[in-house]
Amino acid sequence: MYQNTLEYAKQCDQQDPLKAFRDEFHFPKDASGKNIIYLCGNSLGLQPKKTASYLQEELNDWASLGVEGHTEAKHPWMPYHEFLTDSMAKIVGAKPSEVVIMNGLTANLHFMMVSFYNPTPQRHKIIIESDAFPSDKYAVQSQIKFHGYHPADSLILWQPRKGEELCRFEDLEAIMKEHGNEVALIMIGSTNYYTGQAFPLKKITQLGHEYGAKVGFDLAHGAGNILPNLHETGADFAVWCTYKYINSGPGSLGGCFVHERHAHNPDLNRFAGWWGHNKKTRFNMRHEFDVLPGAEGWQQSNPPILSMAAIRASLDLFEKAGMENLRKKSVLLTGYLEFLLGEMNDQRIGVITPRNPEERGAQLSIQVKNADKSLHQKLTEAGVISDWREPDVIRVAPAPLYNSFEDVYEFVNRLKHLLQ
Ligand SMILES: *Cc1c(COP(=O)(O)O)cnc(C)c1O
Repeated sequence: MYQNTLEYAKQCDQQDPLKAFRDEFHFPKDASGKNIIYLCGNSLGLQPKKTASYLQEELNDWASLGVEGHTEAKHPWMPYHEFLTDSMAKIVGAKPSEVVIMNGLTANLHFMMVSFYNPTPQRHKIIIESDAFPSDKYAVQSQIKFHGYHPADSLILWQPRKGEELCRFEDLEAIMKEHGNEVALIMIGSTNYYTGQAFPLKKITQLGHEYGAKVGFDLAHGAGNILPNLHETGADFAVWCTYKYINSGPGSLGGCFVHERHAHNPDLNRFAGWWGHNKKTRFNMRHEFDVLPGAEGWQQSNPPILSMAAIRASLDLFEKAGMENLRKKSVLLTGYLEFLLGEMNDQRIGVITPRNPEERGAQLSIQVKNADKSLHQKLTEAGVISDWREPDVIRVAPAPLYNSFEDVYEFVNRLKHLLQ
């Protein structure tokens, strides 16, 4: 159904019901002032044009109100995180009470493991995918050590088979068959940052729970990209960041999901702080810790409002566009990228990301035989921002909020020229 012409790409853009959102973003420009082709929204999303005014509003209220802004600002700072909850919950498919924005991703992962990784001599193992993001690996390794165990005994890697790049669910089943009774936690990054593989979250959760393990997901590359339906999966927890597909600015706050069945569980360990305390008595500093129900009860600090203002700017766009519409466009857009790469008919080019749209998000990880980082450099010089992973993989992720079919066409066109 796709066609390999610029006219066709432009026609797709014209018919795209979400086309207007492209104008809501700042694009980096080349020396001649032309938009760069930006396919790196999986690493850092572009800045919405409205972000500056959302930030300015808080700066103004801080200037004119000082501390009174906690209650008197147009968007009062005390409950500010609550302004983000509903939209964020829709993006990850959770109930609002299951979602909170706080901290950075890796910090949230640690705090979730305080609650959901409680190893015993019989059950102390963690399973992660072998190609997990380094920070996730460091986090689980250090948790294992913190509890007096050793990663060599307690960390199990879910690995692709020899000669393959992707992890097979049946291999995770086999691991659980062998070690299930020793596994305390399955913690998987989905979609995988390197291969772009989106794992079957519900099946993994059911498998883990069947053996009595807890199950959590890192959706750094999933939130704002796939439809993870977190509540439905039954996962115990999930964490993500908001600066990749959710366009909230470098180092912005992360998101955290705790399934509602844990909302009132007083037996869970947690590292508590005053922002997780009953809102009515939070400022009456004499009270014993009275934990809030739901994900909010895991908060510790009063959050950075400027960062939350940027998240609000981005979430307002997601709210207007609708996550399901975005996903629909994303499937078409990434499908078009896959089609054009196939049309190159170049034996050096392969895609390691799954072919089935259900098993991937926006990103395709393109393997270029015998290429090195100079190819990435040349792409950059040709006005394309993509991402290079050693030894030979270019990751590109057309983001449905702001990328066009023409972007995708132009990228493949320039890649083709560079490889000639
Ligand atoms: C981007 C990313 C991170 C980054 O962690 P921060 O704590 O936000 O710096 C962690 N894990 C995964 C899987 C990621 O993709």
